[in-house]
Amino acid sequence: MDASVFNYRNGDLMVEDIRLRSLAESLGTPLYVYSTQAIQTNFRAYQQAFVGRPYLIAYSVKAASNLAILRLIQREGGGCDIVSGGELARALKAEVDPQKIVFSGVGKTALEMAAALKAGILSFNVESAPELRLLSATAQSLGRKAPISLRVNPDVDPQTHPYVATGLRESKFGLPVGEAYQLYLQAKNDPGLEIVGVDCHIGSQLTSVGPFQAAAERLLVLMSQLKAAGINLKLLDLGGGLGIDYHGEKIPPVAEYAQAFRAIYAAFPGLTIILEPGRSVVGAAAVLLVTVLYDKITPYKRFIITDGGMNDLIRPSLYGSYHVIKPVKDLDRPLTQVNVVGPICESGDFLAQDRALPLVEAGETLAVFGAGAYGFSMSSNYNSRPRPAEVLVSGSTCRVIRARETSEDLIRGESF
Ligand SMILES: *Cc1c(COP(=O)(O)O)cnc(C)c1O
Repeated sequence: MDASVFNYRNGDLMVEDIRLRSLAESLGTPLYVYSTQAIQTNFRAYQQAFVGRPYLIAYSVKAASNLAILRLIQREGGGCDIVSGGELARALKAEVDPQKIVFSGVGKTALEMAAALKAGILSFNVESAPELRLLSATAQSLGRKAPISLRVNPDVDPQTHPYVATGLRESKFGLPVGEAYQLYLQAKNDPGLEIVGVDCHIGSQLTSVGPFQAAAERLLVLMSQLKAAGINLKLLDLGGGLGIDYHGEKIPPVAEYAQAFRAIYAAFPGLTIILEPGRSVVGAAAVLLVTVLYDKITPYKRFIITDGGMNDLIRPSLYGSYHVIKPVKDLDRPLTQVNVVGPICESGDFLAQDRALPLVEAGETLAVFGAGAYGFSMSSNYNSRPRPAEVLVSGSTCRVIRARETSEDLIRGESF
């Protein structure tokens, strides 16, 4: 998708019309820098692919949960896919229309269910029989009916990293198609439930449309069976998962992805298609800025030690994922093979391994690309490190959307 907002101009790496170097100097590092334009472009690509048909793009909040990002999505007319009560609170705070919120996740608590019922969300994506029972009981105790979609596990291989494949039959997610059918029949007569749709989410960082198509076909069969049993669905949620170009991956355009759903619209006109993209909306829309502390040369390796580590961006450590790294000043220097690492006391703390980078010196700043999704949202305070600030750039203006944490923040709520 759109990474073109990050470009060198006169030797400086820019985000839109702002020099990343200036942001690092004025706000310090590590620093997450998001581009409004990139987020909008990526989000609008989904909307444009579905114009003229009923659809809802429910941005997956867990990819990047900052209120300013949710507000941006809300202004674009988008909804939210949430996976916790905390994410519900965020979406409501950003004034996202509750009728554009869907609630996913295998471990919803009764408290979270009650909060979402009171808010009046569009659908609970239910992942098991016991969850369905608890949801019905919770709804009845509040004198309501819970709108439900069952999350089906279509057993398709998304051909992605095992940690982010969720639609295989061995996965903890979703229900086998046969069991889902039986549960729909039960739910039909349940006074606490209102059947509204069917849902699946097969995985993340998918680089082809085929697995989506396979999943869609399985859901279509189920929908036809349900129709024959007198159950008509209004919503078909196909989850998120379209990948981004971290390191030369070829990602099909969103329009091609939307084509995968043509058969569904043909068979069920009037059906609302829901998509829950996260990574493909924000992933390429942000960089993480880190500053070089030391260039440490050992007999075996050369380490560029930066002030950003796995607590700030865990993807390289967790998934072995590749993030392009570039200096914020275009350096005409020879390339050297280095490991870019953080200050955390773990050997697994690295941002890049055996990477050819122009020689960088202490005090110089690097931009870690593709950091927008599962970057800040997966950050932690490990090693008692305050989490980075987040800024949102728009043209030549920028706004701090989350202040850098302080050591006071680190001990909030603690006592001795
Ligand atoms: C994480 C998640 C998404 C978003 O996935 P991306 O790969 O970021 O698009 C969508 N739906 C559900 C249920 C998820 O868990």
